[in-house]
Amino acid sequence: MSAVIAFIGLGHMGGPMAANLVKAGHRVVGHDLVPEALKTAVAAGVEAAPSAGAAAAEADVVLTMLPAGRHVLALYQDEGLLAAARPGTLFVDCSTIDVADARTAHEAAVAAGHRAVDAPVSGGVMGAEAGTLTFMVGGDDAAFAQAEPLLAAMGKKAVHCGAAGAGQAAKICNNMILGVSMIAVSEAFVLGESLGLSHQALFDVASTASGQCWALSVNCPVPGPVPGSPANRDYRPGFAAPLMAKDLGLAANAVRAGGVDAELGLRAAALYAAFAEGDGAAEDFSGIVRAIRDRSGQ
Ligand code: NAD
Repeated sequence: MSAVIAFIGLGHMGGPMAANLVKAGHRVVGHDLVPEALKTAVAAGVEAAPSAGAAAAEADVVLTMLPAGRHVLALYQDEGLLAAARPGTLFVDCSTIDVADARTAHEAAVAAGHRAVDAPVSGGVMGAEAGTLTFMVGGDDAAFAQAEPLLAAMGKKAVHCGAAGAGQAAKICNNMILGVSMIAVSEAFVLGESLGLSHQALFDVASTASGQCWALSVNCPVPGPVPGSPANRDYRPGFAAPLMAKDLGLAANAVRAGGVDAELGLRAAALYAAFAEGDGAAEDFSGIVRAIRDRSGQ
């Protein structure tokens, strides 16, 4: 069934996601603070709204794809998005934000008489364009059931992870595994280099043995063994290092808040924060292998 969707935040991810909702036959009313982002979305069939509130006022569903939790909370509360929507509107926040902020946003939406889910994504800009994102969803069963057909227009899979905040929790736990494993794979390649082991030999062994993981077999951090990996195009992203640093920062916040003994997760957050502020600012996250090689004097 077609719905009227307010889409707020039409950036790298939100723009193509909104375009896929239009393609699926929905009426999408969009807003972004950056005129260029709004213009690109309009070219893809999105109707421009003069403000986020104006978009929400006529919508059945309000979807947000914003940089961080503070943007979501400011928009929902201080800038009056929740108040502008008709009671009973479904709020779907696809941004990657703090678990605590996601729960606050959810409570505020429910208190204002709405339904809400957190639905962060994995799959990156390519997944957003191709409509092959994976959504990790937190919220009650009824809200998930209402959101699911819309998510299907933008992605290949939506996993209901539990109550409010569970989608964000799944996202940061997954990316903590990814960040730690990319560092482990990169350290192993640099150690192999120091021992005279070829990249291909280590890849041929580890990718079919117990060292196998996505960071190695799909996003291999050295050029050669996996021709499509960012290492073969001078580490052009892919999944940019600053986004990995952001997600690990969110994981580190949750680790500290929960008193969890996650030494490697915290270390990975610190290493990626430093990499993203330096040489990795515009690189794929697998470029961290070069920082490890430099620090090893190789
Ligand atoms: P982006 O910066 O390209 O887009 C965010 C957009 O939100 C911008 O266009 C900005 O102008 C707009 N915006 C901010 N505040 C606003 C407001 N009050 N009203 C209207 N518009 C507002 O970022 P992105 O790469 O599209 O990422 C969006 C979210 O998706 C982030 O939370 C990010 O962590 C997550 N994410 C990104 C990727 C990726 O590969 N880019 C992958 C997975 C998840």
